[in-house]
Amino acid sequence: MSQSVNGLKQSELESLRTGSLKNRRFLLKSRPEARIDANTFEMVSEPIAELTEGQALIRTELLSLDPTNRIWVADVDQYMPPVQIGEVMRGLGLGRIVASKNPSLPVGRLVSGPVSWQDYNVADGTESWPFALVPDNVPVSVEDLAGAAGMTGLTAYFGVFEVAKAEAGQTMVVSAAAGAVGSIAGQLGKIAGCRVVGIAGSEAKCKWLTTDLGFDAAVNYKAPDWKQQLIDATPDGIDVNFENVGGEIMQFVFSRLNLRARVALCGMISSYNDPDDLKTKVSLTSVLMKRVRVEGFIITDFMNRFPEGSAKLIEWIAQGKIKTTSTIVEGLENAPEAVNQLFDGSNTGKLLVRVYPSPDTPTP
Ligand code: NDP
Repeated sequence: MSQSVNGLKQSELESLRTGSLKNRRFLLKSRPEARIDANTFEMVSEPIAELTEGQALIRTELLSLDPTNRIWVADVDQYMPPVQIGEVMRGLGLGRIVASKNPSLPVGRLVSGPVSWQDYNVADGTESWPFALVPDNVPVSVEDLAGAAGMTGLTAYFGVFEVAKAEAGQTMVVSAAAGAVGSIAGQLGKIAGCRVVGIAGSEAKCKWLTTDLGFDAAVNYKAPDWKQQLIDATPDGIDVNFENVGGEIMQFVFSRLNLRARVALCGMISSYNDPDDLKTKVSLTSVLMKRVRVEGFIITDFMNRFPEGSAKLIEWIAQGKIKTTSTIVEGLENAPEAVNQLFDGSNTGKLLVRVYPSPDTPTP
């Protein structure tokens, strides 16, 4: 079995050989009625069987926390099968190959893909959703590989350029603008030449958007006069809406859409914890009157163009044309509680859990 500086330690390899290497895993215990809580998952610790020919062992390093985690644990019609009770929680992120009996999955290489909420995955490359080798020497941080240059950035990229078809001189409004997707979408809108207005949940986030990220204006939707602020920030109406929130915010944005505006319907986070989905009701009269194009999209629609999108995002991040930030939570055990940061707005930029090295990993 191959080993390198990035592989398992000798004692861990021995545990793997004897079938006693432990894998902490979050299994879905019960479906939440509202927020994910202490009853939603159960953490178990299970041994990993010794690798067979063709298999590799991937240790999770960064786990991406996403609003869609909440959708995946709900028994509702969605774009993937819901996670079933007793199954390991689905999750995306970055891992490293730490032991291998497969030459195409060599020890030491970073991979991206469906790491799930667990310490380790066993893979052989024939999975329907395989791990992808991250090219060596990519000029961005691992946090950006898991965020702005990964699924998050790709969602913004294809949403802005392919779905919304943002054009120079137009006004673009982005909701959840200080979050992972929104902060990149707004900066891509600037690259496209739009006037970009963000909507976010605090004065500090709004200041970050305008001062650091170059948004033309930002509106704090928690301010009592936010609707008037949005009117003032969009004097020529709205041509492009990159919608992440739904509910009342989307409703008001719709009332300011221009003739032939485009809405890239990316997410509706305000309704994910609401079983009745009541808050998403939006008047479609303006869609009719203004001949608006509203298009929902799921990032997997663009799977065959990920290499193109990632290359562009990596280039812009490396050149400093796109600025990024992440909120990092330490330790897999904190994932269930941390996911709620997405719903109370305590994250800025990409929310990640650092699974390995964990804070208690001894430094060599
Ligand atoms: P974010 O990093 O944007 O985190 C979510 C943010 O949403 C929070 O920080 C919070 O910011 C805001 N928010 C939460 N609840 C509400 C609410 N009730 N009203 C207004 N704002 C709220 O997450 P992501 O960037 O990962 O995701 C953003 C959206 O994009 C989600 O809707 C998600 O489902 C969607 N998405 C869609 C994809 C696709 O393929 N279509 C792929 C990836 C994401 P604040 O402080 O401003 O309230």
